[in-house]
Amino acid sequence: MSLFETGVWGRPPHTGPRSDVLVLGGGLAGLSAVSALVDQGLEESIHIFERRSRDQYVRDRTWCMWDVGDNPLAKLATHRWHDWIVRDESRVVHAHSDEHPYLRLPADLVYDHLVRKAEAAPNVHFHFGSSADRVDRTEAGVQIATPRGEFAGRLALDSRPRRGRPSRNSLLQSFVGWEVRTRDHVFDPTVVTLMDFRLCKPGAIEFFYVLPLTENRALVESTVFAPSVVGREYHKQRIKTYIQRTLNTSLEEIEYSEQGVIPMGFDHAPRPDLSGVLDIGLRGGVAKPSTGYAFRRIQDDSIRLAHNVAHRDSPPSARGSSARSQVLDRIFLSFLRHQPDLAPNAFLDLFDRVPADDLIRFLTETGSVAVDLRVVRALRPIPFLKEILRFAQPSLRWPANPAKAMRFDRDEHTVLRAQ
Ligand SMILES: Cc1cc2nc3c(=O)[nH]c(=O)nc-3n(C[C@H](O)[C@H](O)[C@H](O)COP(=O)(O)OP(=O)(O)OC[C@H]3O[C@@H](n4cnc5c(N)ncnc54)[C@H](O)[C@@H]3O)c2cc1C
Repeated sequence: MSLFETGVWGRPPHTGPRSDVLVLGGGLAGLSAVSALVDQGLEESIHIFERRSRDQYVRDRTWCMWDVGDNPLAKLATHRWHDWIVRDESRVVHAHSDEHPYLRLPADLVYDHLVRKAEAAPNVHFHFGSSADRVDRTEAGVQIATPRGEFAGRLALDSRPRRGRPSRNSLLQSFVGWEVRTRDHVFDPTVVTLMDFRLCKPGAIEFFYVLPLTENRALVESTVFAPSVVGREYHKQRIKTYIQRTLNTSLEEIEYSEQGVIPMGFDHAPRPDLSGVLDIGLRGGVAKPSTGYAFRRIQDDSIRLAHNVAHRDSPPSARGSSARSQVLDRIFLSFLRHQPDLAPNAFLDLFDRVPADDLIRFLTETGSVAVDLRVVRALRPIPFLKEILRFAQPSLRWPANPAKAMRFDRDEHTVLRAQ
């Protein structure tokens, strides 16, 4: 009889079935981790606890990323674009890559693929409609409480969304996207708009993202980077304004909508060892801090983590990137936070001065030191030198009141009422 079953360390004896790896949350990170564990040939049982029911796995987001050749889910892409633009009032920067298209993966296809793969594995057990509410570390590993009883395992991979405010050195990327049909043919189906700053206000980092599907259908997304969440109503008004004033057409129908808040920062607990609870996905801080892109990093992290779980090796760092990339991320994030007025120009400079394939390698962290240097050289030095000084001089690191540095924060109420 195991220690766990006798409950000798003061907790009530475990009554639920035994299992070895528990996965809390069956979203992208949970399902990707299970898929990678199955690929590793793990024979121990895996239990996934997901709050949603099986039929609630519908399209609730649209994942996009550059194809850098090593993503097994890329085959699910419904669209591939080789051209994209970044623009403001005065500049339109066009980029093209033959080698690395920009992919669109609707979430329902990804969920369906990963859930079916897991269901086909004899050692994987789904608990749909089952929220993991209490998680306790035990000497033998971990114990969780669900409405269907308690479960114990040697290890839990936890992807449940984290509650609470981000730290002072983080930004939040808030967005609402509408897949719309417009009256006129205003979209070029061959060119993605990654960032359109034409409605960006002083002191804010605000842009529109447009994924064209046909000449009059596109996903139009309003995005703001700010120290606090920018409300949904604000984004909805902005999308209407963008379609009417900037695209100069009218909205005929909203065919689908999505929304989200992605943390951009370094708020995550380090992974101590391969026991107890390991945070994964956004909860584990896997999103790239300076951009919020997480899809590719979640795939990479799942593969490395699954290898180590199967071989009982120490866990990989959730950050996954090189020390060099982390320093660059910190400096760029600090720049966005403290000098938001200069951000649109910096993004345009990057797309203008760095060859497309190099920039993709840089953003996906698949480039060499030489690529990183080419990217750094493309940026105007003074604003970044200020951030390097801030980085090196802790007393300057963050202003006492971050709202002083980013007017969007102080001004949020005004911004929320805009147009
Ligand atoms: C609308 C949207 C669009 C995005 N687009 C992109 C993109 O284009 N490119 C990109 O790189 N990244 C994108 N992201 C960011 C990131 O890739 C996604 O947020 C991704 O889904 C994160 O995966 P995750 O598993 O960490 O979180 P989630 O996918 O949110 O999974 C968390 C899971 O936990 C479940 N859950 C919650 N509470 C409990 C509980 N108590 N017990 C059990 N289960 C629970 C939830 O139901 C959910 O299934 C987007 C995010 C959103 C929201």
